[in-house]
Amino acid sequence: MTPDVRDGARRAGRSSHVDRRPADCGAVPEAAWDRALRLIGQADEVALACHVTPDGDALGSMLAVGFVLRSMGKRVVASFGDRHFAVPRLLRFLPGQEMLVPPADFPAAPELMITFDASTFERLGLLRDNTARAREVIVLDHHPSNEGFGTLSLIDAKAAATAMLAEQLLYRLGGRLDRDIATCLYAGLVTDTGSFRYSSTTPAVHQMAARLVATGLHTDEIARELWDRSPFGYLKVLASALERVMLEDGLVWTYVTRIDRAAYGLPYAELEGIIDIVRRTDEAEVAVVLKEDDQGDWQVSTRSKGTVDVAAVCAALGGGGHHNAAGYTSHDTVEEAMAAFTRELRKVRRRSGGAS
Ligand code: 5GP
Ligand code: MN
Repeated sequence: MTPDVRDGARRAGRSSHVDRRPADCGAVPEAAWDRALRLIGQADEVALACHVTPDGDALGSMLAVGFVLRSMGKRVVASFGDRHFAVPRLLRFLPGQEMLVPPADFPAAPELMITFDASTFERLGLLRDNTARAREVIVLDHHPSNEGFGTLSLIDAKAAATAMLAEQLLYRLGGRLDRDIATCLYAGLVTDTGSFRYSSTTPAVHQMAARLVATGLHTDEIARELWDRSPFGYLKVLASALERVMLEDGLVWTYVTRIDRAAYGLPYAELEGIIDIVRRTDEAEVAVVLKEDDQGDWQVSTRSKGTVDVAAVCAALGGGGHHNAAGYTSHDTVEEAMAAFTRELRKVRRRSGGAS
């Protein structure tokens, strides 16, 4: 990022009227926060984990809390359980990456662990065994489907992002919101609200954004890193995905193969934005993009405009997520995967009274 100290100082200077205290919506009982503070207070080392193939909310929330714990004098390790451990290119601008260790170097039986944005135990990937052996596991999340696989749940299904819970934890720990922490939290907030476009964008979301921007962070540069840049090969791969796009019965869908990507050396993580183009289709209520990963499995991204609960569809296929944004992994062919998806979609539509 190009440092523009004056710009940062000007923004920070204007911030004197911004309330530093995050609003607490009360979804997490006070006793749970108290217990979290006690567990953290007692620990010398805290092991942090977010879900596999992390997005801005997972990694941003984890690194933000990592900064605060470090400032409290704790030893911090942070990781995610991908077989091919690499921070997605989109998220390499986030500060705090020196806290990250590959899953093999993660403590085998952590004294205290905190998980971020992971809705299920499975989403921890290679870190599942470490989690199972941890003495205490605090689950910080905002997925409605999360039933709490840890020893303490800090879950708010109404929060637009896990970053909102991370900010709350940070505040309660007495941490100071600086620009690095704000950058991490902001990445989470904008990722999960689609840049303040989704219905999850409440006044509390904008109030949090105000607190973050007041630290002098560069919202323009964060937006460019996250959404407005890609290697040339992305355009070519996008072109093949759009070439094959299908519209059937209110469902718009396409796929991207490993071979498409190999021709341009395009990493899997670069495909994240394709669903946002496909889902704009007026004639479709549901959008699906199947992305073949480096192992040859299909990572299926699904989106709904509101009438269909795609989390329910994905849950039936072994995945999960949110009402309007969910996903799962398929080991089938594209044809088989789409046949299974449309079958489950039909069931969910029927259950919700044939809406859409
Ligand atoms: P995306 O399409 O952006 O990869 O995922 C959208 C949302 O679906 C994510 O925020 C996450 O909550 C959920 N999701 C994606 N893949 C999976 C999966 O394999 N399992 C579960 N439980 N949720 C997923
Ligand atoms: Mn999230």
